[in-house]
Amino acid sequence: MRRGPRTSTREKLLQIFEASPDLTLQEYGNRLGITKERVRQLIESLGLERQRPKYAGRPICPECGGRKSYEAKLCRACWRQSL
Ligand SMILES: [Zn+2]
Repeated sequence: MRRGPRTSTREKLLQIFEASPDLTLQEYGNRLGITKERVRQLIESLGLERQRPKYAGRPICPECGGRKSYEAKLCRACWRQSL
């Protein structure tokens, strides 16, 4: 019986990435039980990182828990609501 742990990790990463494309490498790693360096390698090998390069590792919006830019206090949606 052949097993492919790498394949299943890749498949899981793909599933998580599709559901939550803006997690950090560390967050993917936590969910998969692998290091964030390994996540980065998998994402590169799967060609995923290029789709959302600006979102990786962004700080979290205190209002909604979504991603925001480094300089902004809130994410775009919450910032607009606060005006
Ligand atoms: Zn927000």
